[in-house]
Amino acid sequence: MKVTDHIKAAKDTLFSFEILPPLKGKSIQSIFDGIDPLMEFNPKFVNVTYHREEYIYKERDQGLLEKIAIRKRPGTVGICAAIMNKYQVDAVPHLICGGFGTEETENALIDLQFLGIDNVLALRGDSIKTESNFRPHPNGHRYAVELIGQISEMNQGNYLLDDINLEPTDFCIGAAGYPEKHFEAMNLATDLEYMKAKVDAGAEYIVTQMFFDNKKYFEFVEACRAIGITVPIIPGLKPIKSMNHISFLPKFFHIDYPEELSKELLKCKNNEQVSALGVEWGIHQSKELKAMGAPCIHYYTMSNSASVKSIAKEIF
Ligand code: FAD
Repeated sequence: MKVTDHIKAAKDTLFSFEILPPLKGKSIQSIFDGIDPLMEFNPKFVNVTYHREEYIYKERDQGLLEKIAIRKRPGTVGICAAIMNKYQVDAVPHLICGGFGTEETENALIDLQFLGIDNVLALRGDSIKTESNFRPHPNGHRYAVELIGQISEMNQGNYLLDDINLEPTDFCIGAAGYPEKHFEAMNLATDLEYMKAKVDAGAEYIVTQMFFDNKKYFEFVEACRAIGITVPIIPGLKPIKSMNHISFLPKFFHIDYPEELSKELLKCKNNEQVSALGVEWGIHQSKELKAMGAPCIHYYTMSNSASVKSIAKEIF
């Protein structure tokens, strides 16, 4: 079932969450161990992230170095199929532009269709560590809007090779939104215009980057509505878990902590205290979002189901 159909059918705020594929070589059990504790809250869909290749250098004969591309977290599509099969819940694979040519993208989408996966979250992806700026695949997409365009074309039956009669796909396409602006955007207004372009190209709902100040989400929704974006906007929340997160999350995800939260974080002396505060703050945010009618609350587990479970117990 499509994410948008779940939202249409819902009488109250839905619960969903996102997981990361395990590191290469780890079994799928680690995924199930992360999902099991959250199933009692009746998630309508589970997102599975996609991770780009990275380059490593291997020493060869005579001191030569060989550059090798590896994917540290492969398996997004297989994990989605396994989740749907085991839990009878919809899985939403993330699909990125980075590292993909258009033909590979088309083939990945055909695989998803064969597996009965109706949903896809279409993203650009970030640059890899060895690049200062995002560099698209020579035959790939530069922006998420182009990827969304390709999926929409397939939904119309327009594949790359147009000389064969192919059945249209029927993907429900999601896109990413940034209440605090995407870090590369010149300003919030241009970022919103590009957000609108993604919706005009076929995105049927938006999932936001994590935020810790609900005001930022409410303002983002208002700004989207003001420029004619009418699709559901799903807030994304991440419970802070460790002392390391205090600086890591703002640095990596380009978000701010509101003053009230930062004051409390400064009082924390260890991971346990940060984690307890993270849950408390997550409950506070979730209660308000639910009261204000958020269509769904999407939690970034980042391999930490325990905090999400503690929050969900109070909300769903
Ligand atoms: P875009 O929408 O393409 O935007 C990228 C930048 O380009 C923005 O600054 C935008 O303003 C600008 N822009 C857009 N269109 C144009 C245009 N036509 N001309 C000029 N500028 C333009 N990353 C992963 O690698 N894997 C994941 O699984 C993953 N999951 C995510 C899930 C969510 C909910 C979110 C919010 C992010 C996720 N990311 C993931 C991170 C995401 O890939 C990065 O934030 C990336 O830098 C931007 O992706 P995007 O799809 O928002 O890009």
